[in-house]
Amino acid sequence: MLVFKFGGASIKNAEAIKNMASIIKKYSDERLLVVVSAMGKTTNALEDLLDKSRKGESTIDALNHLKEYHLNIVSELFGLKNTPTEQLNGIFSDLEKALVSESSYDEHYDQVVSKGELLSSTIVEQYLSSTGINTTWADSRNYICTDDNFRSAYVNWEESLIEINKLNRILDQGIILTQGFIGKAENGKTTTLGREGSDFSAAVFATCLNADSVTVWKDVPGILNADPKLVADAQLFNQLPYKEAAEMTYYGASVIHPKTIKPLANKNIPLYVRSFDHPDEPGTIIHECELEAILPTTIIKTDQCLVSFKVIDFSFINEENLSLIFGELAKLDIKINIMQNSAISFSIVIDYRPDKVEALLGHMKDHFEIRYNTGLVLATVKNYQQNQIDEYRKGKKLLLEQISRNNYRALIGS
Ligand code: ASP
Ligand code: MG
Repeated sequence: MLVFKFGGASIKNAEAIKNMASIIKKYSDERLLVVVSAMGKTTNALEDLLDKSRKGESTIDALNHLKEYHLNIVSELFGLKNTPTEQLNGIFSDLEKALVSESSYDEHYDQVVSKGELLSSTIVEQYLSSTGINTTWADSRNYICTDDNFRSAYVNWEESLIEINKLNRILDQGIILTQGFIGKAENGKTTTLGREGSDFSAAVFATCLNADSVTVWKDVPGILNADPKLVADAQLFNQLPYKEAAEMTYYGASVIHPKTIKPLANKNIPLYVRSFDHPDEPGTIIHECELEAILPTTIIKTDQCLVSFKVIDFSFINEENLSLIFGELAKLDIKINIMQNSAISFSIVIDYRPDKVEALLGHMKDHFEIRYNTGLVLATVKNYQQNQIDEYRKGKKLLLEQISRNNYRALIGS
């Protein structure tokens, strides 16, 4: 069986959804499970809506905007006949209710932001069915079982395996269309797996169903050795070993969610990254393979924050104060992108999230003198060539630099 994942860009308007349907049609004889994200930039819009609501600002305009966006797509796809308007109105009214809550930010976030995938999957399933593709809508919250670590929930693999296997029966009858990104905790609450988590959802379904492959349909031709938006002559990888692809995601390659590769590699399930605009092109296959030489690959992570902890007394950075810092980072679920120390200070670079940085500073201020800079860029060149390093050193404000046998990394200030 096959698993397909279509992200926000591939279903951002009626035309895109029609294109998606034409791709699915070609595979409609296969046992196929399709995972979709929220449409276009809906997840960002829901995040804004949540923030407005928590600040006590009016949400009416933003809500209407979101409704209009979805209903316009519906009217373009269906005309006046058999529209899923009633289901959509149900989801919108649940959204309005979810906006009002006393719960923690993260829990509240998941109840609100998860609505994007419920809206998109409802529209797409009905559209596929209306074109004659035999499709069943499945609520992924009944299959992706997680803990209640809201906004970044961990998948309970044993439970999910049991539930997901129940889908085999439905797959015998036709295509399954379900949501990425969302799951359910044991207490029945909706959870999310982290931004861009739909790729990971696809990997969970594929792993539990022993899929023959997973295909992520994207707005790029496959995996390239640089961001094509930044580098004009970025080159396409025809194939990549799992390990190389996993490392790229670790360094910040946004083409695939970092958690996606490991479960697939463990089961030797190939992952294809293909273009939805050129569905006949093969794209990139990530699988077990050995490459003689791998192209230098540049990965850029923007919106980085450099936090430096300086010891206050005349002691040095040692294991004790490091464990204090690491303990706090683990508690706050903050991931270090790169780190470095001197005798009296320890520096980390993290994705900038004001709430997390504030909490970190608050909890550590009695132990260290802390400084931070935002708006930084972390560049990683895997399998670098010397001229690439020279390029970075020319005229850029480097705040930190690390070189190993295979990787060059630089933190660049503005
Ligand atoms: N819709 C979610 C997001 O935008 C999940 C995903 O697209 O993978 O982060
Ligand atoms: Mg995405």
